[in-house]
Amino acid sequence: MRSLNLSAISDADRRACEAIAGEAGVNLKDCYQCGKCTAGCPLADSMDLMPREVIRYLQLGAIDIVLDAKTPWICAQCVVCSSRCPQNVDICSVMRAVRLASKHAGKRPVPEADIFDDEFIANVRAHGVSNEQYLAAFYNLKSGHLMQDMGNATRMLARGLVGPAIHNTKGRANVAAVIDRALEADAERRAKAAETRGGEA
Ligand code: SF4
Ligand code: SF4
Repeated sequence: MRSLNLSAISDADRRACEAIAGEAGVNLKDCYQCGKCTAGCPLADSMDLMPREVIRYLQLGAIDIVLDAKTPWICAQCVVCSSRCPQNVDICSVMRAVRLASKHAGKRPVPEADIFDDEFIANVRAHGVSNEQYLAAFYNLKSGHLMQDMGNATRMLARGLVGPAIHNTKGRANVAAVIDRALEADAERRAKAAETRGGEA
């Protein structure tokens, strides 16, 4: 944990942390910092904040540290942390909510993860199913990692795992409608949260 100047934390910072917890359906006060979430996380070695620390900084209202952290963007949403928590704190959902808040604040500490997310959603929205070859191509182009995973391409082509054909599901219009509804609901939620924060200021 970094040392914090608690007097520099504003009410707005605390409200932003509570909003993230509310989005995740979590009561931050439930966490007593036992560390079981961190001990079970398979990606903890790659994280800049341990899962336990993400919760602790949110408890303290240190919103900037949380929104700047790479951890929520590295999180694989495997749910191990949530399943190990003796207090039923859904840390996995907190990671997702932090990631959204970070993106909406224009931070994106791991831009590759954000690019991959957007490309994956666009791919599934267009075809009803992910077309891996196009997902990989657009991700590599937009991320600037042009040759990433190219070493596997020949073998995958030979085994028919990827190819030039585009696969579309019959119900792809329905899939697109579901994604559009989810994106609209997210935009409405954010607008409402911003309105509430403005009203409280
Ligand atoms: S396992 Fe639960 S109670 Fe323990 S530190 Fe993690 S979130 Fe807090
Ligand atoms: S959901 Fe994320 S934070 Fe939790 S154990 Fe899995 S990778 Fe770690």
